Amino acid sequence: MKMREILERDQTVFSFEFFPPKTEAGWVGLTDRLHKFEALEPSFVSVTYGAGGSTRFKTHELVCHIASKTSLDPIPHLTCVGHSKQEVSTILQSYIDTGIDNILALRGDRLLDGDSKSDFRQASDLITCIHECTGNSFGVGVAGFPEGHPETPNRLVQMDHLKLKVDRGIDWICSQLFFDNAAFFDWVERCELAGITSPIFAGIMPIQSIAGMRRMAELAGGANFPAKLQKRLYKFQDDEDAVRKIGTSWAAEQCAELLDHNVRGIHFFTMNQSFATEEIYRSLGATSSVQLRNPQ
Ligand SMILES: Cc1cc2nc3c(=O)[nH]c(=O)nc-3n(C[C@H](O)[C@H](O)[C@H](O)COP(=O)(O)OP(=O)(O)OC[C@H]3O[C@@H](n4cnc5c(N)ncnc54)[C@H](O)[C@@H]3O)c2cc1C
Repeated sequence: MKMREILERDQTVFSFEFFPPKTEAGWVGLTDRLHKFEALEPSFVSVTYGAGGSTRFKTHELVCHIASKTSLDPIPHLTCVGHSKQEVSTILQSYIDTGIDNILALRGDRLLDGDSKSDFRQASDLITCIHECTGNSFGVGVAGFPEGHPETPNRLVQMDHLKLKVDRGIDWICSQLFFDNAAFFDWVERCELAGITSPIFAGIMPIQSIAGMRRMAELAGGANFPAKLQKRLYKFQDDEDAVRKIGTSWAAEQCAELLDHNVRGIHFFTMNQSFATEEIYRSLGATSSVQLRNPQ
């Protein structure tokens, strides 16, 4: 279903992000677990793409599996670093053939070889290419960074870059993960000041371990880990179960406040595990997205 229709149907959009597992055991684990995510009836799910094409075929395989074997509506991520227009066009055609309606258009982190083979400089170029190559067949989403993107310290200029992506024709913005709602609310206001009216989904990542948090800090450069959260986590750092519960309840508190502020969507970075998302739904008084999507 095109994002425009999803947005018409759902007052609040709920989505889950998966990554294509590298191992056979990971694949079996995730595909077995998909029914748990189905039971939560999200608006859509998304599948990450390895920058430079490292997961090109695995992303495609997982998207096709989800589309053909489950009731979930998959949206592939596509990064453009290291790709030629011809490669991107072939990937897009394969998704048209599979009946995919939307793409999350990203640049990806720069490659070590300096992206010498790339026909694209930024995600904005990919957006143009998606529209031109497919005659506007896809709903297009992009990434946004409430706490800044490491490559562009000037926040005003960074907002100009986001506005450029919006002006190239997009349907939604999905935020980078954040743990401090105040930063997200402030960014949404700054987007409004810049004339950005696209729906913005909040990226939520329930911390499940201290090691996972440290990995995430590396990947999601810019995201702040509030002292209050760190104090709670480090107090129980030797108790894995307690850390998982603290991380999940922090994310649940974030979600409750976001919903109070009528956020347009919540995107869960699930790390392919269903436990935290299920737990958060329960804490919000729901067993499925449908109960949360259109509150009376
Ligand atoms: C929700 C979400 C999902 C993600 N999924 C993936 C994934 O599946 N695979 C993956 O590899 N990565 C993923 N990422 C990470 C993302 O690819 C990286 O953070 C990347 O560095 C930035 O991508 P972008 O699409 O925002 O790029 P861009 O919009 O191109 O921005 C990248 C940087 O360039 C700057 N910039 C933009 N336009 C210009 C210009 N005209 N001139 C100069 N500078 C400019 C921006 O300010 C920013 O600092 C995801 C991020 C988010 C938030």
